[in-house]
Amino acid sequence: MLSVKILTACPDMFPGSLKYSIIGNALKQKKWSLDIINLHDYGYDKRKSIDDEPFGGGPGMLIRPDVVEKALLSIDYQSHLNRKLIYLTPTGKILKQSNLAEFSQLNQLIILCGRFEGIDQRAIEVLKFSEISIGDYVLAGGEIAAQVLVEGCIRLLPGVLGHPESLFEESFSSNLLEYPQYTRPQVWKDAQNEDHEVPKILLSGHHERIKQWRTNKSIEKTKLIRPDLLEKEKKE
Ligand code: SAH
Repeated sequence: MLSVKILTACPDMFPGSLKYSIIGNALKQKKWSLDIINLHDYGYDKRKSIDDEPFGGGPGMLIRPDVVEKALLSIDYQSHLNRKLIYLTPTGKILKQSNLAEFSQLNQLIILCGRFEGIDQRAIEVLKFSEISIGDYVLAGGEIAAQVLVEGCIRLLPGVLGHPESLFEESFSSNLLEYPQYTRPQVWKDAQNEDHEVPKILLSGHHERIKQWRTNKSIEKTKLIRPDLLEKEKKE
């Protein structure tokens, strides 16, 4: 079973999105476990402070390395061979679907969430956290990023998705975005009284032709929105 441990200065932000829907059900069914470690429990003074000013000057505060180490040592992590330590940071490698697939195979995933200006670099290097970013933008803390990573990872665990076959066709499973999809009503009359039909081919019952149409749509959409994915495919 995958055990997820989260080191955070904002423990009340959890389980957050992780208690809902298929991810929350899987948690209740013990397909994975979640433990939240409050960095403030390992603060360095009477006031349980965790941060201090950056050496060399500059704005804001940084979380101290001794606090991160104490919080980490409160977890039984050395005995887990199949584990990974992740620090979420905009300076990390961008998270990809393939990383999620890899993390979903682990026994233990330890995630460090930053706050303020971030974390003392020594903590990251000495304690061997891999640096991962969820995208080229800056959040106020790593907690939402942690929920993004964990949610993406848990839905890949066996038995979590109602229809596991949806994993094969979805975006990024092959360097393509998913094709557009449609449901009822077959003819949707909008508020302006205009009719919008679903593409006829999808009603034909002709599985081969539908498959071909979807592949074409996937390619079309990927070319338009994410040509970088197709470039990558050529190189691989
Ligand atoms: N000074 C830092 C930003 C700090 S933001 C810099 O310029 O790189 C505060 C915290 O939010 C970070 O420590 C990190 O844990 C989290 N965070 C912000 N943006 C993120 C992103 N794109 N991906 C993952 N974590 C992020």
